[in-house]
Amino acid sequence: MQTHILGYPRIGSNRELKKACEQYWSGKSELQDLLQVGKKSRHENWKLQKDEGIDLIPCNDFSYYDQVLDMSLTVGAIPERYREIESRSDLTNLDLYFAMARGYQKDGLDITAMEMTKWFDTNYHYIVPEFSKNQHFKLNSNKILNEFKEAKEAGIHPKPVIIGLVTYLLLGKEKEGGFDKIDLAEKLLPVYQELLTQLQEEGAQWIQFDEPFLALDLDEKARDAYSFVYNELRKKFPKLRFVLSTYFEGLKDNLALALKLPVDVLHLDLVRCPSQLDRVLEEIPASLNLSLGIVDGRNIWKNDFENSLHLIQKAQDKIGSDRLLLAPSCSLLHVPYDLDLETEINPGIKNWMAFARQKVRELKTLRALATGSTEAPLLKEFKENLDAVKSRKTSEVIHNKKVKDAVSQISEKDSQRSNSFSIRKIEQQRVLDLPLFATTTIGSFPQTKEVRSWRAQFKKGKLSAETYDSLLKKETQNAIKWQEEIGLDVLVHGEYERNDMVEYFGEQLDGFLFTKKAWVQSYGSRCVKPPIIYGDVSRPEAMTVYWSQYAQSLTDKWVKGMLTGPVTILQWSFVRDDQPRSATCKQIALAIREEVKDLEQAGIQIIQIDEPAIREGLPLRISGWKEYLDWAVTCFKLASAGVKDSTQIHTHMCYSEFNDIMESIANMDADVITIECSRSQMELLEIFSDFEYPNEIGPGVYDIHSPRVPAAEEMLTLLKKAEKVIPAEQLWVNPDCGLKTRKWEETEAALKAMVSAAKMVRTAL
Ligand code: GLN
Ligand code: ZN
Repeated sequence: MQTHILGYPRIGSNRELKKACEQYWSGKSELQDLLQVGKKSRHENWKLQKDEGIDLIPCNDFSYYDQVLDMSLTVGAIPERYREIESRSDLTNLDLYFAMARGYQKDGLDITAMEMTKWFDTNYHYIVPEFSKNQHFKLNSNKILNEFKEAKEAGIHPKPVIIGLVTYLLLGKEKEGGFDKIDLAEKLLPVYQELLTQLQEEGAQWIQFDEPFLALDLDEKARDAYSFVYNELRKKFPKLRFVLSTYFEGLKDNLALALKLPVDVLHLDLVRCPSQLDRVLEEIPASLNLSLGIVDGRNIWKNDFENSLHLIQKAQDKIGSDRLLLAPSCSLLHVPYDLDLETEINPGIKNWMAFARQKVRELKTLRALATGSTEAPLLKEFKENLDAVKSRKTSEVIHNKKVKDAVSQISEKDSQRSNSFSIRKIEQQRVLDLPLFATTTIGSFPQTKEVRSWRAQFKKGKLSAETYDSLLKKETQNAIKWQEEIGLDVLVHGEYERNDMVEYFGEQLDGFLFTKKAWVQSYGSRCVKPPIIYGDVSRPEAMTVYWSQYAQSLTDKWVKGMLTGPVTILQWSFVRDDQPRSATCKQIALAIREEVKDLEQAGIQIIQIDEPAIREGLPLRISGWKEYLDWAVTCFKLASAGVKDSTQIHTHMCYSEFNDIMESIANMDADVITIECSRSQMELLEIFSDFEYPNEIGPGVYDIHSPRVPAAEEMLTLLKKAEKVIPAEQLWVNPDCGLKTRKWEETEAALKAMVSAAKMVRTAL
């Protein structure tokens, strides 16, 4: 039985690579400095795995920006617009690479970056390959070969990790019509073959092909491509040992296909889909070995050894140890580096957790246990694991009877407003007395350097609570006064007290904890530090009433209360694995529901509950959508439905593909939904129009991601366009999203223009 790792984090345990990249980009360091940091990261990872006795250690899991972009450069899928950079002798291949990732605006050139999107259902973003009709491929980089040689020199025999050919194509985007990207397989195959030839000549024995798409819904053509590609590769490389790695889902209807592919090892994600093991063991051909992905690569909890050993034993009984490998469920890219760096987590809770480094260790231990070793230190480790798992099951820190009771008492009625929207609308109109095309913003105003530094100082204890409070109050006063002056209809308090829309709530809720160094790469040099939900969630006291009430006291206009919704809080955190996501979400929903009621009680008449992450929580397989949407929508409604008819509930979503989830969006039954719309020139609204969406909508009229200030006429045009598809009584006027990242000058100019656009459209009616 062997152990292997599918990939290791690379940003550096202290984010060294992030810092080195940013230094290099800003011209503050030389290429050599950056290369040095990259090399160090690779060597540290290799050494760590070697010291733990991992048998197959990956190479090419390292990347300066993104592994998909690495592959695009490797196979020469470089879009036309970068030709100029390619031909420049003063720029290196790495400069070209960064230009593709980040765009290039220098020396009179202005080239846009390639698009970025989420890597399956993770919070990692990859650079989307661009394909044209006459796409050419050629082996264009030695990165993989060089890292292979480098690892060999470091005394290990590495397993290069390569994005599988079919997955690579499916990740990409056709930039013009008239062809299907999957048809490029034949053209791309020779490049993969050339690459494998080089690796084989250099002594490679193992190749890992990452093919996560094999675990998703596939059409006939993609299935055929799988058979074609792997049969061709096998023919040409009978001696190389291929590991085909699938993850994030079970193989399900693709199992028969996967078992037929001529590879040596099939890797299964047994964390996401443990149930697939039985069928695989029934049907596996004698020539195939299995890699059991049993250590969770997507979460930060300690492995349950007893449970894992049970799965391993089952596989051993059926096909024998020699045909088994043990691995994390997927690349460890999605978990933080090292739990030992966290010195402030409650030791009881820390004892339930494992980061990348600890997970490598777990594999080693599991193998030893599974192969019958009875050395005393090993048995001690086993015992400690059993104890940790047991203490988690019963711990009072996690299990809160009050919360469980509250959840069990939820009734259907709790997630329904008392009356339908058409009745509520009349009540709301009476109380709120807002004009048509009412103007508002999404919540946050510019978080200036000063505001950030006050918070930093306050957190460090260098600023007293009183001073911090009075500084924020001043800022809020200015915001209210200024919003009144420019004539917005519904005001916001500005969210100055918040660092991040999830962290702010997590910090005030029971059941959450925060780390100091648990960074995870989100894209390029950007990292996030997700909160960890470890226990039953409850709200010890009101979280936002103070600021909303204060802001409302300053004005006669309505001030919107501002909350983050339960699904978004869940989605952007590491969650418990000892209960379904839906159960955790319900608990959060109840906490937000109490907050909503408290806001209403405090005289807040309009309450916005942001749910930008509801779309991204969709399961990877369509068969799972319904169940997810059911509980996600129910949770939103649980949070929002406890108010009177006259209290207006808003929700906000950033750019989302609403196409196939329109029914669920309507079921959320928010009185008003604001969405990002300006970049699609209001086209998104057509989906709402086709659906005859009944409630009110605020389509964003300007892009907040860019410093550009649009003219009032431009927004007027968009509003007129909106009014053609959605009746005026249903329309609101607002920017695309929160304004936290913008400068004040831009915000002022843009919102003034927005208000005059609204006035113009009202008179034009
Ligand atoms: N209320 C939040 C803000 O304005 C919403 C942010 C978001 O949708 N991502 O910043
Ligand atoms: Zn948004």
